[in-house]
Amino acid sequence: MFNSIFRRIMIPNLILTLILVISLTMAVSNLYRNALVDEKHRSLESGARELSLEASSYLRGATSLEELNAAVNAVGSSSEAMVYLIQIDQAQFQENATLQNTGLQDAFVEENLTYILAGKSVFSTAPYSDTFAAYVLFQGYPIYLDGDVHGAVLLLSPVDSLRALFYDINLTAAGIAALVLLISFPLIWWHSRRISEPIRKMEAATRLIAAGEPAVLKPIQSDDEVGRLSASFLQMKTALEKTEGMRKELIANVSHELRTPLTSIRGFVQALMDDVVPQEEQPEILALIQAETLRLTSLTDDLLELAKLQAAAKPLQLEQVELEPLAQQVLSNFRQVAAEQKLDLKAEIESGLSFIIDPNAFKQILYNLLDNAIKYSQPGGTVAILGHTVSGSLELVVEDQGIGIPEDALELIFDKFYRTESGSQGGTGLGLSIVKQLVLLHGGRIRAEKSVPEGTRIVMIFPEDFTPGIH
Ligand code: ADP
Repeated sequence: MFNSIFRRIMIPNLILTLILVISLTMAVSNLYRNALVDEKHRSLESGARELSLEASSYLRGATSLEELNAAVNAVGSSSEAMVYLIQIDQAQFQENATLQNTGLQDAFVEENLTYILAGKSVFSTAPYSDTFAAYVLFQGYPIYLDGDVHGAVLLLSPVDSLRALFYDINLTAAGIAALVLLISFPLIWWHSRRISEPIRKMEAATRLIAAGEPAVLKPIQSDDEVGRLSASFLQMKTALEKTEGMRKELIANVSHELRTPLTSIRGFVQALMDDVVPQEEQPEILALIQAETLRLTSLTDDLLELAKLQAAAKPLQLEQVELEPLAQQVLSNFRQVAAEQKLDLKAEIESGLSFIIDPNAFKQILYNLLDNAIKYSQPGGTVAILGHTVSGSLELVVEDQGIGIPEDALELIFDKFYRTESGSQGGTGLGLSIVKQLVLLHGGRIRAEKSVPEGTRIVMIFPEDFTPGIH
């Protein structure tokens, strides 16, 4: 029963409203009843006081019996009460403690008379009167003569006279309660639905996404948790779609990259098997096959390397490293090729510059960048590694005077498999992606820019303190 958010919001709200409305109605109707009884009490007490004075003056002989009777009738009809005037004092009362005709129980009259004869005004609700055959409001008041109590005024008014009023009050209160419930029910329903509906839709969309099906979800314009949840959900959906798109693109690219060398190899092997290649050309064909297999090997190596870096499966081995010897070590790998291409290779690193880095990752960064710089250089040029600190950060640059990179490709060269038309020297198109990933893992930034007057500069900036990983 409570297994949906809608019900979980709706039912407690409904119960709470019900309790509130009922208790409020009961409280208001009780207050009103008490006010009515108080009012009646006041009127009975003032009538009793008036009659007590009249009776005193009658006892003193100042007024006639007719006048007293007239006063009794007037109070009796104005307060809808039966009036008894009793002439009795303490001594008589103790001798004969019974009283007839009020229709009230003897014990009740006796107890109250004790109070009245002691000079107190008494009011009590709901003793049963046989005379009225109903519950009554009872008011008793002492009659004084020369400062002593000589009798009592008793007023009995049937509760029925108030009952009709109580009934009206209860009816009105019940009507208001029903009206409030009638208005609040659709409001509570609407409110519960407003909260639960977007969550229900999001849940349905999540299930579709999990099943790999397309899901449509409109953003929810509300400035609360539900609105924020919907925004985050849409963000997550977009990110998932982007990742999925990238995954598909990567698979397409990888298949394409693998197919090209495999097709060439198959063609060459077929030609050799069909014996259509003259004997003297066969070594050349075998060399081509070897070159393609080498390309395939480096492609798969690079892909594996990139996948490991992206999955952060290879944590950085950080240590304090002096950069000049590290750069020289990488440069030494290229000395022979550089000499063959008549290139000048140099490292200009601020003396004593040392940083906390992963030395192997840095060697790979420099290796890939130098490999490109040499590959895309023309004879006679210079390839340099420059390193210095800029306000605490390390700036590392690999610069060449080669063919350069077109303006619109400067940002794209870090994408997987991206190669410029002029620069497709049989590389895998993954070298710079690996470099970028390694730089990011060191908390750094990388960009490519044109070198003056010609060539390329790859600029990397590494912060002094960083938390390893991509942020
Ligand atoms: P590749 O293995 O093809 O060199 P990279 O990711 O290292 O792959 O480089 C991507 C592309 O960027 C290259 O194909 C080339 O077109 C361009 N490129 C990279 N470095 C340079 C450079 N120093 N000079 C000119 N073009 C470059």
